Amino acid sequence: MGLVTESKRLDLIMKKAEIPANELARISALCGLEILDTPSEERFDRITRIAQRHFNVPIALVSLVDRGRQWFKSRQGLDAAETPRDVSFCGHAIFSDDIFYIPDALADARFADNPLVTGAPHVRFYAGAPLHSPEGQRIGTLCIIDQLPRESTSTDLAVLRDLADCVEEEFKRSKLLGAVEQVKGLTTRLQLATESANVGVWDWDVVGNELVWDKVMYQLYGIDPNKFGGAYAAWLAGIHPEDAVRANEAIQMALTGDKQYDTEFRVVLPNGNVRWLKATAMVQRGADGKPLKMIGTNWDITESKCAQSELQSRENRIRALVDTIVDGIIVIDAKGDIQTANPAAISLFGYAIDEIQGKNVKMLMPEPYASEHDGYLNNYLTSNIKKIIGIGREVTGKRKDGTTFPMDLAVGEMEVGGERMFTGIVRDVTERKRLEQLKSEFISTVSHELRTPLTSIRGALSLLMGKAAEHLPEKARRMLEMAERNSERLTLLINDILDLEKIEAGRLEFDFKDLDLVDVAARALEDNGGYASKHQVQLVFDQQVTQAPVRADEHRLLQVFANLISNAVKYSPTGGTVTVSVVAHDDKFCVEVRDHGSGIPQEFRNRIFQRFAQADSSDTRGKGGTGLGLSITKAIIERHEGQIGYESESGMGSVFYFKLPRAGAGQCRRLEDQQHDTTTSICVRALICEDNPDVAQILAEMVRQDGVTCDVAGTAAIARGLLAEHDYRLLLLDLTLPDTDGLTFLRELRGNEATAQLPVIVVSGQALEGRATFNGNAVTVVDWIQKPVDRMRLGRALQDALHRVKRPHILHVEDDTDILEVTRTLLEDMADLTYVTNLREARQQLAAQIFDMVILDLGLPDGSGIELLEELQGRCPVVIFSAQIPSRDVTAQVATALTKSMTNNEELLGTIKKILNLKDTAA
Ligand code: ADP
Repeated sequence: MGLVTESKRLDLIMKKAEIPANELARISALCGLEILDTPSEERFDRITRIAQRHFNVPIALVSLVDRGRQWFKSRQGLDAAETPRDVSFCGHAIFSDDIFYIPDALADARFADNPLVTGAPHVRFYAGAPLHSPEGQRIGTLCIIDQLPRESTSTDLAVLRDLADCVEEEFKRSKLLGAVEQVKGLTTRLQLATESANVGVWDWDVVGNELVWDKVMYQLYGIDPNKFGGAYAAWLAGIHPEDAVRANEAIQMALTGDKQYDTEFRVVLPNGNVRWLKATAMVQRGADGKPLKMIGTNWDITESKCAQSELQSRENRIRALVDTIVDGIIVIDAKGDIQTANPAAISLFGYAIDEIQGKNVKMLMPEPYASEHDGYLNNYLTSNIKKIIGIGREVTGKRKDGTTFPMDLAVGEMEVGGERMFTGIVRDVTERKRLEQLKSEFISTVSHELRTPLTSIRGALSLLMGKAAEHLPEKARRMLEMAERNSERLTLLINDILDLEKIEAGRLEFDFKDLDLVDVAARALEDNGGYASKHQVQLVFDQQVTQAPVRADEHRLLQVFANLISNAVKYSPTGGTVTVSVVAHDDKFCVEVRDHGSGIPQEFRNRIFQRFAQADSSDTRGKGGTGLGLSITKAIIERHEGQIGYESESGMGSVFYFKLPRAGAGQCRRLEDQQHDTTTSICVRALICEDNPDVAQILAEMVRQDGVTCDVAGTAAIARGLLAEHDYRLLLLDLTLPDTDGLTFLRELRGNEATAQLPVIVVSGQALEGRATFNGNAVTVVDWIQKPVDRMRLGRALQDALHRVKRPHILHVEDDTDILEVTRTLLEDMADLTYVTNLREARQQLAAQIFDMVILDLGLPDGSGIELLEELQGRCPVVIFSAQIPSRDVTAQVATALTKSMTNNEELLGTIKKILNLKDTAA
């Protein structure tokens, strides 16, 4: 019991092993040794065995103090591999560099009740020499233990310390061995890496001039290791002669410290092959700064050098191409700043490259394009709406000296390094423009030169065939027919070629108006009816809509119809039918021309719209035609923003169709209305002499509906003035005028030579009385109409009056006497003609006489007929009959413009009669 009480008392004072302040560093040093939990090793066991025997103790240990335990790397006389740290003696021993020495644990209050003392292994004596890690941390002890108390001499403790030092040496050895292993591993890895990367490693002892190469170095230089001199000169001997000086210099500069060694050179292999090597190295120096060693690497860069040189030569080729190309190339960035330009662009604009590089491309454009350019570019970048990019167009360029020139510009877009760039290819087209001008002048000359003689040939033949045919012998008639047919063909060909020329040059003028396609189709059927019946083909109009408003040029559309209908007729069998229909198709109208003829051969289909394309070349003679019609037709339809196409089955016939966009319905005007505007209104003018403005207005409206324009005079005096000024074709006269009695005024007019023949319609409240007064009088009055006016009667009177006019007097201004001869023969039955061949004579005639019409050629020996047009100022209707097609401005000033060779005798005659308002029978 006493022992228990004693034990309890001691328990209160037992000291646990504490944790030292530097525990973290200590544990890290212990772990760094990588020794914990490793198997026992003889080199440690040898020491504990010596200690056990030398001190004659049952237990000797190499104990390592870990976080919560002490672990024994070597143990003699103890089974346990580890024990808890807090009850350990060693836990105390690591607090000091001195040996921790307990002679009798039972007599020591700190350990008397320690379980290792009270129980197995029953420690009484303990002496532990602290063990240091190579870094100096106390990580454990070499300790000896006895189960009996004992004293130790200082010699004993010194031996224990010596043995502990031996253990520490082993720790160092472990660390060293670890490092050696690591270096070995590293070296192997490095060797593996350099070998697999084909990197050669060299080591040059500068002082002793000893050069050591690894295996790869020998391979790189193609040298047998046994034949290598192992010195600097041996290396230099392998360098390509052209690179040797440079390679040597690089080494020397590295040695002097002027430049890091990093170079490239060629080596010549013993078999003569050349290899490019890259070389780098480090210089090791002594304490005095003198170079001792150079360690470096070499590796093969032949492949990348070849690729680089290939790249270089490719770049050189591209550069040469860009530099020598005749077109200018300018690259700009998204801000419009010029990045680069080739020599052609530079010389085109007259700048030096550094004068434009980095500047905005605006400097190469005149106003207003320069100011608009930023906006355009921004617009494109934000909205992606392209105006030029990928399209190309003709623009104006500005040179350094401020002069401008026309140029073609094509712009491409690209991305370089994530940045948007634009490439402009520019070409000066001044010369091309000049040639185009020459060409168009040439064409205009040819058209004049060819059309004029052709018109007279055609006109003369037609007259001959019409008037004198029956008096000719059969053979002569056949010859004439042949000549006429061929002149028609030649005419067709010339007209088509000229049209085509104009289309190409973009000069084919279009006069877009709101039209009804149904009307145009009906008119086309009428126009081409003659041609169809000549070929014994029936033309049928299958009108599926009542109205088809489109915006189109009437004349050009009729040309399209004529081509499609004539083709359909030409290729129809005798007795066949050609059907023309107008169909509504969503937002378009579609015209179809269907025949049941030969159809389009399969092999011809991809060429059908090409120029001079004919399925059967003998068609030119057999069926007549040029092979140009469809290509002109297509161009015309495309200018109308329409589409043309066909469907065909060989032997079954074809359907050619075109589609035009629908115009707003309200815009559709009847064709007849427009014809009124352009023909009658210009030529027939009446005077209404009526003092009541309301009545005058009603009369004017009625008259206008019959296509007659009129002026109103409220008094006889005003009427007199107007009659002197204008050439009226009719007078509507009231008998009660404020200043003069109507009948008196009528007599006055008849007495005056200029108005003696003027048709007069009396419209008056006293018409009947007036007529009674005039009865038997020689004065002619077309009709006496009583107010209120009977509309029908007035209409009849108007027609009567207009056809009662005297034979019209026409002035024909034309320098080609053959044409004069033809028109004279054509018109002599219906009009009096005066001919002049130049402007001067025309002016004389116009000053001396009043004419009802002027037929005017434009190209005259002493100037252009247009000059005369200005002088005539609407005095009488003018018909231009010329080889040139006048501009729209000029056409607007005249009754009509006919083109020689496009107009045959019948058309000319019909047009003139219409304008003069002559009934057909009058001729
Ligand atoms: P051409 O003046 O020869 O008629 P086009 O350009 O109008 O010239 O037509 C070219 C060719 O297309 C014709 O020569 C003919 O071979 C073929 N072709 C055109 N329309 C028809 C059709 N309706 N039926 C058969 N072949 C046609």
